[in-house]
Amino acid sequence: MNSILYGCLAKEKDTAFIEFWAFWANEVYILLYMKEITKQTRGIFGEDKVKKVLDAMIKDGEEQYYFENIVLPIGIERTTQIDFVLLRPNGLFCIECKNYSGFLFGRAAGDEWTLCNNAMRQKVPNALKQNNLHIYGLGRLLKERTYINSLVVMVQNNSKRVEAHNVIDLNNLRDYLVNFDNDCAIPKETMEQLLKELGACPKGSIEEKQHAQKVKTRRELIARKICPVCGGRLIERKGKGYLFYGCRNFPMCTFISRIRPLTEEENKEYLMHYGRKKSR
Ligand SMILES: [Zn+2]
Repeated sequence: MNSILYGCLAKEKDTAFIEFWAFWANEVYILLYMKEITKQTRGIFGEDKVKKVLDAMIKDGEEQYYFENIVLPIGIERTTQIDFVLLRPNGLFCIECKNYSGFLFGRAAGDEWTLCNNAMRQKVPNALKQNNLHIYGLGRLLKERTYINSLVVMVQNNSKRVEAHNVIDLNNLRDYLVNFDNDCAIPKETMEQLLKELGACPKGSIEEKQHAQKVKTRRELIARKICPVCGGRLIERKGKGYLFYGCRNFPMCTFISRIRPLTEEENKEYLMHYGRKKSR
């Protein structure tokens, strides 16, 4: 009798233990998700700061023109946006802004850079390589052939430990552009032609960019089987002709995402199962 009671208690303890950890795992997912959202907003604030510097230069009489958020098609139904394309008589620049806080270490050639924030170490993609893709896309968009200079601006002025001449601090942006040494200045006619072409390039709004990033984050979360609505685990389920992800927190959370249509056989099996359940 005693041992049965003890067994029951132990079982209860186990469930409590599992529930406890499931709860905290869920909290961590939500935390990660919120962190992703903050990252997106920070990016947009960073672009604003770069814009302020460029505007101030124009106000001071510098001859330069910039275009924000030029949309580039990459693959089917996918787009990316260039933060800034800047045209000056001493060069055409494709500018990528990064708003990382902490110490950043990296090289021009590496695939990833290291970001150290307090005791945390984190790998971030090499922004120059990201920008190379932008430059390739922009080059295809423009008919006028001009060399496109890659420039990465660190909004929080932490480029010092990145070994690349074209990764600079926001504080140095003005000096860098004014003193940029280009053997062959862009001729006036080419400038005019480029202005026309850049003006005609499709441009996205900041909202669209935010949206695109959100979609990307959403897609990434789903790929990692995390519910983008509540942060719960996603579980594969079959239903109504589709294989889909459903949230473990159903019915509190009703998020679903289709994975693929069911094959004929799977569908038959599903209908059989469903039918049997119904007839009971
Ligand atoms: Zn959910």
